[in-house]
Amino acid sequence: MNELVSASQDAAPTRFTQIRDGVRAALRAGLDIVLPPLCPSCRAPLGGGAGLCADCWSKLSLIEPPYCARLGIPFIYDPGPGLLSMEAIANPPAYDRARAAVRYDDIARALVLSFKYGDRLDLAPMMGQWMARAGRELLADANALIPVPLHWRRLWRRRFNQSATLAGAISGLAGVPVLHDALKRVRATPQQVGLSKGERADNVQGAFRVPPEKKSDVAGRRLVLIDDVLTSGATVDTCARALLRAGAAHVDVLVFARVVAPLRTTI
Ligand SMILES: [Zn+2]
Repeated sequence: MNELVSASQDAAPTRFTQIRDGVRAALRAGLDIVLPPLCPSCRAPLGGGAGLCADCWSKLSLIEPPYCARLGIPFIYDPGPGLLSMEAIANPPAYDRARAAVRYDDIARALVLSFKYGDRLDLAPMMGQWMARAGRELLADANALIPVPLHWRRLWRRRFNQSATLAGAISGLAGVPVLHDALKRVRATPQQVGLSKGERADNVQGAFRVPPEKKSDVAGRRLVLIDDVLTSGATVDTCARALLRAGAAHVDVLVFARVVAPLRTTI
C-alpha cells in the first residue's frame, strides 16, 4: 500500500517551519518550568500527565456497543447485532459506517479545542489510539485514510490540519496509509458553529473535490474519512459523496468525538 502514501504535510518541513517549530518548542519548554501545563478541562496542574488530568480522563464518555451499525450512535438498550437506528433508515448518509471514540461533552470539547487551537499536538497520539480502538472494524479492511481537508487559507492560519495529524497517528497504529491530497476543499466555507442541520448541509455543498490526477488513487478503494468532531455529519457526508463520485468503492467515517442526542429510538 506504500504507493498510496502521498507526501505528508508534516514530512517535508521547510527551513522556516523548522526554525519556527524549534523556537516554539524552546519557548514551551521554558514556560513549562515556570508554569506547569494545566488540564484544559478543569485547569488542574498536569504534573507530567498527557492531555487531561487523570480525573478528567476517567470522566470522558466512551462510545461503546450497542450502537447503530450504520451511524454509530449508541442505543439506550441492546436491540441485537447489526440493527439500524430510525435515523439511519429515514435519512441514510452517503458514507457506509461512522464510529467515534467519545461523546462530545464538555470534557471532550476542552480536549479538542486545546488540540486544535492551543497548539497541543502532543495530544494526537492518545486521541489517535482511542480512535483506532473505536474504529478497529473499519480499519481492518481499509485501503487508506482520508483526512477531512481544510481550505488552504485556514490551513495557513492554523498551521496544521488537525484531521491529518490524527490520521497520521491512526496510520502508525493500524498500518493503513494516509492519502493527504486525494480530497481538496475547493471552496472556503464559514464555520459550521451555530448553524442548523439544513444550513450546515447547504454551507458545505460542493466544497470538496477529488482532483482529476488523484482519481486513480481513490477509484475502487475502501476509504476511511478522519475528522476530529462529528456534529450534524454534513461535512463528512459531503466528503463521502465527492469520494464516491470519484469512484471510491466504500467510504467509512472515524472521528474522535461526536454529538449524541440523549434519547434514540430503535426498530
Ligand atoms: Zn482535569
